[in-house]
Amino acid sequence: SIPLGYFGGIGAASKAGILFKGANYLDLMTKVNTVVMDKTGTLTKGVFKVQDVVAGAGFTKEEFIGHVSALEKMSNHPIAKAIVDSDADKNNIYTATDVHEISGQGLTGKVNGNEVMAGNAKMMQNNHISYDKSVDSIPETTVIVAINNVYAGYIIIADEVKEDAARAVKDMHANGIGKVVMLSGDKSSIAENIASHLGIDKASGDLLPEDKVRHLEELKANNSNVIAFVGDGINDTPSLALSDVGIAMGGMGSDAAIEVADVIIQTDQPSKVATAIRIAGSTKKIVY
Ligand code: ADP
Ligand code: MG
Repeated sequence: SIPLGYFGGIGAASKAGILFKGANYLDLMTKVNTVVMDKTGTLTKGVFKVQDVVAGAGFTKEEFIGHVSALEKMSNHPIAKAIVDSDADKNNIYTATDVHEISGQGLTGKVNGNEVMAGNAKMMQNNHISYDKSVDSIPETTVIVAINNVYAGYIIIADEVKEDAARAVKDMHANGIGKVVMLSGDKSSIAENIASHLGIDKASGDLLPEDKVRHLEELKANNSNVIAFVGDGINDTPSLALSDVGIAMGGMGSDAAIEVADVIIQTDQPSKVATAIRIAGSTKKIVY
């Protein structure tokens, strides 16, 4: 049976906008020493805005963005929404068919008879598209585009770090978390930049969902690590399931992430991870 004090802990957490799916996770939370976090939507707002559109040779800016936005209309990714919103020409000149979304990379499809590919550097490398390498050093998220398998330009997109992200990391360290790790599908340079700004101990970028799982498996292989993973997206579900405590950002998070998680943060504030650890700790003191 579950000691009665745990119900008090679940109640206190719930008042703070933190849902524990069971008392056992409250107990497990007190043992967590490593917190692994997703970037987009977890530490950053996940609300992207197009900053610049650079069409390569052979296309006007309107043709270029028209092709890309027809494709992105078929995706639910926050990047896709930003591109569609930025397309001034909404008169349906361009229509996409055969659209495929490749998780952690981008989209491919046919637009008005042209093969269009829009995604990150990994996607371009996997498809042997040689693109303008200066794009790699742009310190913001970029979507690189190929039309008929030839590099056709890029789109610069900006996301913002959440207001409480730095405090989140500081509070976790203050509550006994020895290691805070950030894993991202975004460019390594961006991941490292944000991590050093936030005081995160270790960051890796350019990761596919399966790469994130591999990182977690490596951390789990060390028996002294008790790991919480914090994420929001459908692509985070394998990591949420694999970690000792899976924590979903529930406010804007995907239903799949909420379903598989053990703990749900309803306010979308990463600082609530430290709050959850603190409540778990004080509950334990009452129970024992
Ligand atoms: P994160 O790990 O930061 O939450 P994701 O795994 O959701 O990021 O996406 C990783 C990367 O894949 C994005 O930064 C982007 O470069 C690319 N990407 C994913 N979906 C799309 C899309 N619909 N259009 C263009 N690029 C995309
Ligand atoms: Mg995410």
